[in-house]
Amino acid sequence: MPHRSWAEPYKIKMVEPIRMTTREDREQAIAAAGYNSFLLKSEDVYIDLLTDSGTSAMSDYQWAGLMLGDEAYAGSRSFYHLVDAVRETYGYEELIPTHQGRGAEHILSQILIKQGDVVPGNMYFTTTRFHQEYAGGSFVDVIIDEAHEPDSEHPFKGNIDLVKLQAIVDEYGADRVPYVSFETNVNLAGGQPASMANFREVYEFCSRYGILVMLDATRALENAYFIQQREGGYHDKSIKEILAEICSYSHGATVSSKKDNLVNIGGFLAVRDPELARRARALLVAFEGLHTYGGMSGRDMEALARGIREMVETDDHVAARVGQVLYLGEKLIKAGIPIVRPVGGHGIFLDAAAILSHLPQEHFPAQALTATLYLDAGVRGMERGIVSAGRDPSTGDHHYPRLELVRLAIPRRVYTQAHMDVVAESVVSVYEERERVKGLRFTYEPPELRFFQARFEPLD
Ligand SMILES: *Cc1c(COP(=O)(O)O)cnc(C)c1O
Repeated sequence: MPHRSWAEPYKIKMVEPIRMTTREDREQAIAAAGYNSFLLKSEDVYIDLLTDSGTSAMSDYQWAGLMLGDEAYAGSRSFYHLVDAVRETYGYEELIPTHQGRGAEHILSQILIKQGDVVPGNMYFTTTRFHQEYAGGSFVDVIIDEAHEPDSEHPFKGNIDLVKLQAIVDEYGADRVPYVSFETNVNLAGGQPASMANFREVYEFCSRYGILVMLDATRALENAYFIQQREGGYHDKSIKEILAEICSYSHGATVSSKKDNLVNIGGFLAVRDPELARRARALLVAFEGLHTYGGMSGRDMEALARGIREMVETDDHVAARVGQVLYLGEKLIKAGIPIVRPVGGHGIFLDAAAILSHLPQEHFPAQALTATLYLDAGVRGMERGIVSAGRDPSTGDHHYPRLELVRLAIPRRVYTQAHMDVVAESVVSVYEERERVKGLRFTYEPPELRFFQARFEPLD
């Protein structure tokens, strides 16, 4: 069959101009930002791939929903629309709306974790782990080993290793494991999915011990897409059916709606057990808001309800969303650029250690590569390497993470394939000149979460 091109399954009704800058503009901007992409002003950025969180474009139907939001303090109509959308899509009966994902993580951790508990999970996520520890628990990573290997082509690098899980239960006893924290399409592993077989096995394992399974379903849609493409028996199932089946192997979920759900702010906790929901609502009132709005306005809930329905209405949305990421990834692979493989669901991770192999890790290769990419064409990525890893508080030395990456996260429905071409060409051009890229040194290093505010200058 001859090759047939495809394009985005939407057309553009409203545009947001972006500023084209010159190399000179960008040199000034990156120097003023201390060579840290977090400190750039968004108006100095041409293609913004800093994050896919809260950066989605809403549809006309969602924007129309904003006008129809019911701002009643109690019993908002928009809340009930959201309840219905979550029930029909994710299958959970009880909805606890929150201002964003971490609000849901806070409440879940507070109601389930006791001092000294252990929470196994498939690689940590920053805010998730924070709330588990804040509630007195400790997080243990039970993801399969392949997740830590950038070259492993394992199709389901997000899977939980049942041998590791069994070892935790044997060591601590099931009564000290309140739940397994199971993330879909694991963010920090590069957007890597778990298989349906693994969701099912983990659920059966936990059921034997009376342990709950709580999903971080933030990217469950993208996970469903990979199951449809890669797992036997799922090619003919719809994304909607697959997503519902994933959730059927759990007792509840936390969701940051700033990702899959196509809104700029929002999130929720959803559970099956009414008693658990009752306890969650008691805290919700103290930390987020009344139980029929949590942390959201009526219009936010209306747009969110519509976003949830829209993401599964046809399979075309997710195919184009992940397809755009794969399109960029394949271009880079063809050009011989070292990236984390297989390409994940929400972005491309450039292997900065391999690309800038002349720089030692303490000269911050991923930070330097991020700055160089910005200089080349105004593309903004994010360092995920030694700067993000911070220092060991006991020794004061850097943590030396195994992966030194630059993340290019793709917002949903925001950029076209032509933007992806510009990004690919820019990465290739930086790669060709890679030997000229200099390392960086700190001019200011904050004590906490240094990657957000740190400033650098190039080494001579
Ligand atoms: C973004 C994210 C969260 C936190 O959600 P916020 O809406 O940013 O508070 C939790 N888990 C995962 C996997 C995420 O990507």
